[in-house]
Amino acid sequence: MAVIVQKFGGTSVANPDRIKNVAERVAKYHREGNQIVVVVSAMSGVTDNLIKMARALMPLPSEREMDMLLATGEQTTIALTAIALHALGLPAISLTGAQAGIVTDGVHTKAKINNITPKKVHALLDQGHVVIVAGFQGQTMEGQITTLGRGGSDLTAIALAAALKAELCQIYTDVDGVYTADPRLVPGARKLPEISYDEMLELASLGAKVMQSRSVEFAKKFGVVFEVRSSLNDNPGTIVKEETPNNEGVVIRGVSLDKNQAKITLVGVPDRPGVAAHIFKAIADGNVNVDMIVQNISHNDGAPATDLSFTVDKPDLLKARTIIESLRDKIGVREILADEKIGKLSIVGVGMRSHPGVAAKMFETLASIGVNIDMISTSEIKVSVIVALDKGEQAMRAVHEAFLGK
Ligand code: ASP
Ligand code: MG
Repeated sequence: MAVIVQKFGGTSVANPDRIKNVAERVAKYHREGNQIVVVVSAMSGVTDNLIKMARALMPLPSEREMDMLLATGEQTTIALTAIALHALGLPAISLTGAQAGIVTDGVHTKAKINNITPKKVHALLDQGHVVIVAGFQGQTMEGQITTLGRGGSDLTAIALAAALKAELCQIYTDVDGVYTADPRLVPGARKLPEISYDEMLELASLGAKVMQSRSVEFAKKFGVVFEVRSSLNDNPGTIVKEETPNNEGVVIRGVSLDKNQAKITLVGVPDRPGVAAHIFKAIADGNVNVDMIVQNISHNDGAPATDLSFTVDKPDLLKARTIIESLRDKIGVREILADEKIGKLSIVGVGMRSHPGVAAKMFETLASIGVNIDMISTSEIKVSVIVALDKGEQAMRAVHEAFLGK
């Protein structure tokens, strides 16, 4: 008998009708003779709403109480899903994260899973039950309820699949799978039959937010193969797994555009040891995430100086700027420039390791439509450029066409 983990996100359980659909799908797999573990998120909007209510009482509520509060979202859906399965005549039982044996550390609101003891889940499966587990939550050794960070139900599903040694792990969502680009922006975007963990991680961190990144990292670490697919139809989805030699034949897997970045440029920064450390330590202490960093070579023979640019998330621009302003006199920066009207366009693919000329082709494509490149950064499997925001979508379509066709 195969163990299958099926995870349904918030939109897939948004109301009783959707939950009924979920139950019918689960019943189908159960009838085929599989042992099914279902992981559900809170109904869409519920977690946000709970957060809003807490913040209406106090801007920074206790994180322990937030976990107590947010865990209720998933607890609602597990019970409703069990009831929906009962209505179809199936033996089903719901379990909280703690009851399912999910033990976490004590970092409230972003706990890490320490271990899972799935004894009870196994026992219930062996008795013929469909077992429904609340996503996003666990319990510390001391019995405190914790949550795993936003989007954490994905992690619950992947971690359970690993602990149960499941044959199949399906992540059901409101899109058909992972695409070569956002289909709303690129008409020629196609669903990928498969993608490697690393490519998925790059695309997720670039704004193709199909899944919580932590859960993909976990899957990579423990070799959990999973499928991302839609709960609204029966189309096959995208299989996410370790790269295979045949992956390398595909040079570029996907193109993404991140419109949520802003750029700060420091003009005339004295070129001496410790300056960059000083600047980025201050930014980090302010809890601002830095993405790209570009520093130019020195100019000015007598008093060597350089220009330094970096990007941050748009909502952090003001904070980052304020931090830099406060260092300005001490370090001796000539000018500080900020630009919000940028987009980060990236191409991702493990095949670029073995194919030269990928960056050149991207730059040529941008040149051919008159798009200027502002900053460039690369990793082993990614090339990113900063372009003007109002050229971003046009650039994305052109680059997609050049690498992946119309
Ligand atoms: N309900 C939680 C959230 O909205 C967890 C999840 O949906 O995966 O972030
Ligand atoms: Mg989710």
